Amino acid sequence: MIQIHNKKDCSGCSACANICPKNCIKMERDEMGFVYPKVDADVCINCGRCETVCPILSPAKENSPLAVIGAKNRDESVRSTSSSGGTFFELAKEIISRGGIVYGCALDSELVARHIGVETAEDLSNLKGSKYVQSDVGTTYREVKKYLMDGREVLYSGTPCQIAGLKNYLGKSYDNLLLVDVLCHGVPSPGVFADYLDYLSERFGAKPISVNFRNKEKSWKRLYFEVKFDNGKRYFTFCGYDRYMSMFLNNISLRPSCYDCRFTTVNRQGDITLGDFWGIGRKYPERDDDKGISLIIVNSEKGKNAYESISGKFDAFDSDIDTAKAGQLILSSSVKKHASYDEFFRLYTEQGIEKAAKTTVYIPGKLKRRYEMSKRWALDLARKILKKGY
Ligand SMILES: Cc1cc2nc3c(=O)[nH]c(=O)nc-3n(C[C@H](O)[C@H](O)[C@H](O)COP(=O)(O)OP(=O)(O)OC[C@H]3O[C@@H](n4cnc5c(N)ncnc54)[C@H](O)[C@@H]3O)c2cc1C
Ligand code: SF4
Ligand code: SF4
Ligand code: SF4
Repeated sequence: MIQIHNKKDCSGCSACANICPKNCIKMERDEMGFVYPKVDADVCINCGRCETVCPILSPAKENSPLAVIGAKNRDESVRSTSSSGGTFFELAKEIISRGGIVYGCALDSELVARHIGVETAEDLSNLKGSKYVQSDVGTTYREVKKYLMDGREVLYSGTPCQIAGLKNYLGKSYDNLLLVDVLCHGVPSPGVFADYLDYLSERFGAKPISVNFRNKEKSWKRLYFEVKFDNGKRYFTFCGYDRYMSMFLNNISLRPSCYDCRFTTVNRQGDITLGDFWGIGRKYPERDDDKGISLIIVNSEKGKNAYESISGKFDAFDSDIDTAKAGQLILSSSVKKHASYDEFFRLYTEQGIEKAAKTTVYIPGKLKRRYEMSKRWALDLARKILKKGY
């Protein structure tokens, strides 16, 4: 039976819990707020399936890149509500228009990130946008297998470790399954996220009703974080001035497995890989309007066909894997643990989120923020005049 001796050796993909014939594996949260499998040894029959399905113990087959594309969705209403160039939405809509079902991450009514299946274009808005917290895949691998065996088309999207978990769970490839992995440098703790929302709730005297981790009304490259509350109030701030997003972007609050990620390679788990085309403005300043450009890596013939069927929706250009790698360190290596990682989680478990975040994350005061923001504004203006990107 599966046993986790070192936390970095479990990405929390839940493939083991999905495959267990006795349903005796529960995914349980540890003190850091991440889930790990826990086996009920009294029910376990020692069949070993949980070990053979684990993508950390038995790596899933990878695909090599066939093409690299930069793309902006021509529909501004889709691009502005997606995190990057709005590619996922078009891939998903196409599958739904053919009667298929699309799986991805949504925030539920309690703002918990979960994988769900969606069958209508209207419901797709729940899957749009990055949720920067680990998503619970639940029993979706089981559902997917059932749909695939019924002959239904399925698109499953997620982090590379989730896609690897699903592939091992299925055990064979299906023509009617399209796999989409997002470039992923790591997932923050769901426990930390929930506690942070409680902290904001106290500050604003109201219940949070929605979270947008990447509100793009001001910028794509400079991330802005937004939370709306049930009393009509809104918290909206540059990510560098929000403690949750600062912890995520500075690699303080990520899952232990993310610092030793087995998926940080150009050889991908999905038929298509989606990310932000970071750094593209340096090479092609004229292409970068700061509203979002997708980096699309096509990894299989199936992925190629899927992209071709939606390519008319985009202003797109061909690129190459070296250009992609130049803006994405995670195509070559895992992120490094922040020096305050252990201190953060020690304080979090002993004294709670507020103490841990305030001790380990520096947020400049109002005056300094104003000065920094005007410096950025001036820099952007100069870049615009000199036609230089970043
Ligand atoms: C935790 C995380 C870390 C990321 N890190 C990077 C990075 O370092 N560099 C980079 O270029 N891109 C990163 N991305 C990907 C990027 O943020 C966009 O998701 C991606 O470019 C797709 O954008 P889009 O505009 O096509 O569609 P969007 O509508 O913005 O993307 C939605 C897609 O993201 C998936 N998704 C959203 N949240 C989660 C989640 N918590 N777990 C699993 N899947 C999720 C949905 O299922 C859907 O497939 C990350 C995404 C996540 C979720
Ligand atoms: S060995 Fe088999 S029965 Fe036991 S936990 Fe693993 S999958 Fe379940
Ligand atoms: S990586 Fe996935 S399959 Fe392996 S032990 Fe962790 S949750 Fe289970
Ligand atoms: S960094 Fe690696 S281990 Fe962590 S969530 Fe992303 S793919 Fe999974």
